[in-house]
Amino acid sequence: MANLKELETDVLIVGAGNAALVAAEAAHDAGVKVTVLERAPRERRGGNSTFSGGLFRFAYKDFEQVKEILQDTPGIDFKDVEVEPYPTDMFYSDLMRVTEGLADPSLSELLVNKSQEVVAWMAHHGIDWELHLSHVAKVKGKYIWRSGTIPVAARGGGHGLQEMHFKHVESRAIDILYSTRALQLTQDSSGAADGALVSTPAGKRRIQSKAVILACGGFESNPEMRARYLGQNWDLVKVRGTRYNTGDGIKMATDIGAEPFGHWSGCHASVIDAEAAAVEAADETTRYSYPYSIMVNVNGERFVDEGEDFQVYTYAKTGRRILAQPAHIAYQIYDQKTLPLLRSNYQRSRPVTANTVEDLASGLGIEPARLRRTIDEFNKAVSPVAFDSSKRDGKCTTGLNPDKSNWASPIDSPPYQAYPVACGITFTYGGLKIDPQSAVLTADDTAIPGLWAAGELTGGFFYHNYPSGSGLMRGSITGYVAATEAVKYIKGR
Ligand SMILES: Cc1cc2nc3c(=O)[nH]c(=O)nc-3n(C[C@H](O)[C@H](O)[C@H](O)COP(=O)(O)OP(=O)(O)OC[C@H]3O[C@@H](n4cnc5c(N)ncnc54)[C@H](O)[C@@H]3O)c2cc1C
Repeated sequence: MANLKELETDVLIVGAGNAALVAAEAAHDAGVKVTVLERAPRERRGGNSTFSGGLFRFAYKDFEQVKEILQDTPGIDFKDVEVEPYPTDMFYSDLMRVTEGLADPSLSELLVNKSQEVVAWMAHHGIDWELHLSHVAKVKGKYIWRSGTIPVAARGGGHGLQEMHFKHVESRAIDILYSTRALQLTQDSSGAADGALVSTPAGKRRIQSKAVILACGGFESNPEMRARYLGQNWDLVKVRGTRYNTGDGIKMATDIGAEPFGHWSGCHASVIDAEAAAVEAADETTRYSYPYSIMVNVNGERFVDEGEDFQVYTYAKTGRRILAQPAHIAYQIYDQKTLPLLRSNYQRSRPVTANTVEDLASGLGIEPARLRRTIDEFNKAVSPVAFDSSKRDGKCTTGLNPDKSNWASPIDSPPYQAYPVACGITFTYGGLKIDPQSAVLTADDTAIPGLWAAGELTGGFFYHNYPSGSGLMRGSITGYVAATEAVKYIKGR
């Protein structure tokens, strides 16, 4: 490790996730000295970004525009691919719809309007993109992505994304100091951020810098902050990603006057295997085929519209609904008609299988007569419309509370299978107030000189819910913008 006492840098970047490494690459390209601090040891590096699926939501006119950044994708001939357009206005209206109109308009415009440009920039900065099959509809030999589902991910998913970033950063001799945790921001006599106090294996040190970019995640891995801001029982949930995102960046910035912003009681919480690890549960524990299931709680009652929309628009709010159930658990029930639709990672689960509804209930510890009633009522309420998993099929129920809006297939073809699922927190929505230049703002909306923020610790982008693939995209864009602005600031001094 470099001797920190001698360490002076131009741009100090806190964190080494996707947002931080995009910022590091952009700042380095602009000709300044960059130093990255990462709290995790090298072997645990990568943040939530490395746990992610690597899926990016960005706007495009058509598949021709997507192809401009795509590498060959093993097993898929582009001639067999149909990608429905996803223009900027559709991305913007998705964002507003799922956030109940609360997403900050100027930050939403930044996210939507810069998404294509930054994905293309990343393609020129070490990131390979490929088609990603988790949202594909296969119809008559064609691979079809409906508008709003995500066709593109970094090669190798989140782990691949981060390894490509690290390779690129390391080839540019950008310093990354591992096992180095930022503790406190320092300021010069004018109040401008000018570095940080950090803890290292060799003790506490100060790093002097001309600008600081905070990109060190939300507070999802801090049970005390979860209980304080998200509410009762959130201290108990499983954490899908890194153990190191404990709200440090948010605290360091608010300590010097940054304004908290966004949905502080909200978070992205999705559906994971009930047997997943308590922390760093990882992406393969997701259980996202629930739109084709019915989900019941331990009392055998349905509690959510499983088919409200494509999974990409509902999964981030469904974990919260499971947490609110007795024992904080639910069961996804499938029959022989829907089992073939399960994603391959379900093979890692230990489902309960039975030939009758009553036996299934017994295996789950649910009162058999209650589950029988739920399933009978559900089956009777299903509309006769044809089932079609490749689109919103409108095959719904009527007269139930809650109804199911799409993919309502009667549970009548045994053997049945039930998968126990729980709530897994992904990341928190509340964070720092930034402007569209990623500058960190105070309560009176003035920028704190020398301080920018990127990625998960920025507030105002997401409320209540979230369109999938927007977290990484938000990180890349804010990282890119923060670096560009920080370099302008340094050069203008
Ligand atoms: C299982 C899972 C799947 C996901 N899938 C997707 C997906 O497919 N698409 C998508 O868009 N989003 C996805 N997300 C969300 C997405 O991963 C995050 O929104 C995004 O990675 C956040 O990036 P970031 O750079 O802001 O933070 P991170 O990648 O979390 O990086 C923050 C870094 O800061 C470090 N750090 C923390 N405190 C300090 C400190 N005091 N000093 C120094 N370093 C510190 C941490 O160790 C960490 O490495 C997923 C998340 C998870 C957990």
